Amino acid sequence: VKAGVWTGPGQIDCLDWPEPGIADDTVLVQVAFCGFCGTDASIIEGRFAAGAPPRVLGHEVSGVVAAAGSAVRDLAPGDRVACNILSPCGGCPWCQAGQPNHCARSFIAAQGLAEYAAYRPDQVYVLPESIPLDHGALLEPVANCVYAVDRARLRAGDTVVVFGGGPIGLMTAQVARLAGAGTVVLVEPDGARRALGLALGVDAALDPAETDPAALAATGGRRGGFDVAIEASGQPDALAGAMMALAAGGRLVVVSIFDPASVVAIAPYLLYEKEIELTGAHATTHTFPRALKLLHRLDLGPLITSVEPLAQISDVYRRHREPGRVKTLVRP
Ligand SMILES: [Zn+2]
Ligand SMILES: [Zn+2]
Repeated sequence: VKAGVWTGPGQIDCLDWPEPGIADDTVLVQVAFCGFCGTDASIIEGRFAAGAPPRVLGHEVSGVVAAAGSAVRDLAPGDRVACNILSPCGGCPWCQAGQPNHCARSFIAAQGLAEYAAYRPDQVYVLPESIPLDHGALLEPVANCVYAVDRARLRAGDTVVVFGGGPIGLMTAQVARLAGAGTVVLVEPDGARRALGLALGVDAALDPAETDPAALAATGGRRGGFDVAIEASGQPDALAGAMMALAAGGRLVVVSIFDPASVVAIAPYLLYEKEIELTGAHATTHTFPRALKLLHRLDLGPLITSVEPLAQISDVYRRHREPGRVKTLVRP
């Protein structure tokens, strides 16, 4: 089959690859769409540990079940589905503690940039009739955004600032709104992405170059800042700004993948004085079922900048950071 293969530093190519085998307890999915994700770029550029090349990438998958192993119940050929990259073991200490995203033995079937991909049934979710397959490919990142909002312990009426207007930032802004956020402010340098954020319903979209942290905090309300900050930009300056923008009792959730070598100076006094909570949201934890129920409430169409054939995968990677681009879907 044709597949998008990470072949070395800064390199992804469309190559011939063996068709994934099917076992009694797996299903074979004919991939309809696979999102190209910033995480894929991080892997290609060596900033996210994911084994060694050559490897098929891609983890934002929708498609149709092509074949199901003899032990598989509840899934059948023809089912329209979306897939979770993670298949936690259920038995390791992290799984037992309810943190399957940290599973020590997780079976990762992140081979979605291909004509066919194999999954265990617990990784596969049947899409409602109302969800088109291109939107279904966004179930995985939406589940990530739901987890970020969970980690923020968002309460109805909370003020929220989102740093970064990429796919995760723009979807988290929408999920936060649906979860009851009173005000949602987007901070994003790209004007086209700010305009998209406003079209998707954020209350304000600010350019970080023209907004000092004190002015940003003032937009968070009378308590002198925001209740929740979501860091979805991966920019060290944004993280420091996010701490400044929080009100007392504020929660900051890092959902972006920073360069592992980057270091940010923060003022511990702020942690003390404002009782700020600083945490992260790594992948997903029990959030796929809720993301599936939320999908029809999200405005996903405008986030899909273009759909490209798998043969163009090198080009998709090269262009994924161009101005105004949000999500690229790849169509095998
Ligand atoms: Zn992703
Ligand atoms: Zn485990």
